[in-house]
Amino acid sequence: MQEAANMQHQRHPVTSPSRSRHSTIKGEIVVVQSHKQSGSGRSASLRLYSSTEVDPKTGKGKLSNQAYLKSGTTKTDDGEKTRTYSVKFQVELNFGNPGALVVTNRGKKRFFLQSASLQIQNNQITLFDCHSWVYPFRTTKNLDRIFFANTKYLPNQTPQALIELRKEELISLRGDGTGERKEWERIYDYDYYNDLGDPDKGEEHNRPVLGGSELHPYPRRGRTGRHPSNAENEFAWKDDEEFGRQMLAGINPARIRSLEVFPPQSKSGAVSLIEQSDIEHNLEGMTLPQAMNNWRIFILGHHDYLMPFLSQINSKDVCTYASRTLLFLKSDFTLKPIAIELSLPGSEVDNEINWVVLPASQGEAAALWQYAKAHVAVNDSVYHQLVSHWLHTHAVVEPFIIATRRQLSVMHPIHWLLDPHFKDTMHVNALARSMLINSGGILEKTLFSAELSMQLSAELYKEWRFDEQALPADLLKRGMAIEDPDPNNPSGVQLLFQDYPYAADGLEIWTAIQAWVTDFCMLFYTDDVSVRSDEEIQAWWSEIRNVGHGDKSSETWWYQMASREDLIKALTTLIWIASALHASVNFGQYAYAGYPLNRPTLCRRFIPEEGTLEYAEFLTDPDKYYLSMLPERDEMILGIALAEVLSQHTSDEVYLGQRPSTMWIHNEQVSEKFEKFKRKLRMLEERIESKNTDPRLTNRRGRAKIPYMLLYPDTPNVESRGGITGKGIPNSISI
Ligand code: FE
Repeated sequence: MQEAANMQHQRHPVTSPSRSRHSTIKGEIVVVQSHKQSGSGRSASLRLYSSTEVDPKTGKGKLSNQAYLKSGTTKTDDGEKTRTYSVKFQVELNFGNPGALVVTNRGKKRFFLQSASLQIQNNQITLFDCHSWVYPFRTTKNLDRIFFANTKYLPNQTPQALIELRKEELISLRGDGTGERKEWERIYDYDYYNDLGDPDKGEEHNRPVLGGSELHPYPRRGRTGRHPSNAENEFAWKDDEEFGRQMLAGINPARIRSLEVFPPQSKSGAVSLIEQSDIEHNLEGMTLPQAMNNWRIFILGHHDYLMPFLSQINSKDVCTYASRTLLFLKSDFTLKPIAIELSLPGSEVDNEINWVVLPASQGEAAALWQYAKAHVAVNDSVYHQLVSHWLHTHAVVEPFIIATRRQLSVMHPIHWLLDPHFKDTMHVNALARSMLINSGGILEKTLFSAELSMQLSAELYKEWRFDEQALPADLLKRGMAIEDPDPNNPSGVQLLFQDYPYAADGLEIWTAIQAWVTDFCMLFYTDDVSVRSDEEIQAWWSEIRNVGHGDKSSETWWYQMASREDLIKALTTLIWIASALHASVNFGQYAYAGYPLNRPTLCRRFIPEEGTLEYAEFLTDPDKYYLSMLPERDEMILGIALAEVLSQHTSDEVYLGQRPSTMWIHNEQVSEKFEKFKRKLRMLEERIESKNTDPRLTNRRGRAKIPYMLLYPDTPNVESRGGITGKGIPNSISI
């Protein structure tokens, strides 16, 4: 800009039209420098609005040119150090009197603006009492700060030139009732007194919400948007509601499925003991068939794959059941667990021994129900780490990386497309093999499956299908969505219910990736023949199928790679796995698994049976018995440390919709399509934030009050890019 202005000036060196049509308003700006952490204000720029002359184009007062702070003098008075800068505004000749001062802080630090005084005609002075922090405009997202001159007006006496500015300022001060207040904001709205208690310190610190009820009327307080304190509840994990919610918004959100047949069927043919009468009173008045017909019954199954391993697993000082949990979708779209069936291998005659545990809220039955949920959480933790996280993301992507390096030239556009999604994966997988999944490694030490861990994960690879890793296909398979024939719905599916945070955000990310991949492929491939005749792509795909995933080469579900559609589906699925799917199961580990009471990874004791010594011990002190079920202290610490390490973002992480500048190609059409992808992701971020504050979407926060951010594309705060942020979708599996 500066350069352009100079050039213009050089072309018209003789006359200076600005000189004849402009005049100058001089003034002084006072910044307090002794306030804590105040910047100098030196890099601020300022403009004036006229209070008397309207600009017909904007309907607001005429605007001056930008002015900057000139040299100043410092003085200290009563310990307060201030610096007074001089400033000159260039304004049109008929600018009139200044009515508002707009300040833009272009520096890195906020500064405290005390006042401004401007000399106008006849040596009159216009004063602005500011007394306010001015935050860097990068922090305020480009919002400037406006100050009005000291003259006061009733609304209908406001000079025409200031009416709009007055309105705008008020609207911004009211906010829109959403979002968490930031220090730099000046938004005022209302809330109840819901932040007085501190139940984290114990039940005696519980306090009721004041305001909004006949029982406890109270004046409203200013709304901060921060979580009510009495919801940061360290006992939240004990709730049935939170137990169900984590299956939709926790770190293992892709295991739950609709129950299609009752009672649940086993691969082995063993019969489930759950009876219709056990659960029917919990279905909001529906019969079981009615609830099933309405897609309201779900199951978290950790039974079939685990049963064959249990005898061996339990021979090693752990007590593990295979579990099946039935859940009911209530009319508020929260999931209520209604029965847990725990199974152990039996004799040759009865090949399974089953116990059904039903929900209870009081007495011994409530304690037993809590224990049953703990055993389910143990199953789910191990499945999460070995299957959802390690197998379904880290391990399955590696063959794609190798084939890409081997078969696609760096000149190939698909190589360029995929490259950022492979950053650090081979390295981190190698590291995992040397300390996590190896014999004697951390997973063997902390998971109930111990040395059988990787075998268990291999067992589940048998069920893995690449095509079913596409999110819409996965949701259809699990009965969590139905096909949507609407051609305007690019995902092709509709969720059974919207408050399934992983799936709802996931489908939006999925369609954004799909659109970007489609745009990109369309630029390089003119038709299906061009895919079939691309020898590098054909060799790449063949190697993935026949070598990298060679144990599955005979499966018929592999895409044929005969059309653009095949290529687009394969690339979209691969990018989805490497970016969003991994982020959804990885970066919440500290929040959920870092608290072993919520997700223990093994149990040392079974649930006590009546008539045994253990049962007597349990009756004496159920809480003590519960703690004795959990892992030893050292095992827990190791588990927490692992969850912490794995939840870290590295500081050089590159997020979805970003590419390092060194990896750019000179192709305007590609740049244009990539910009479109980026814009879409920025839009999704706004949508996620607004969904998280929508009181109807209760599963997004739950009683633990952890908002669902695992599929939020960026980690926007530069300072916190590294470390545990609980959000951000890196392009690749890098931890
Ligand atoms: Fe990971």
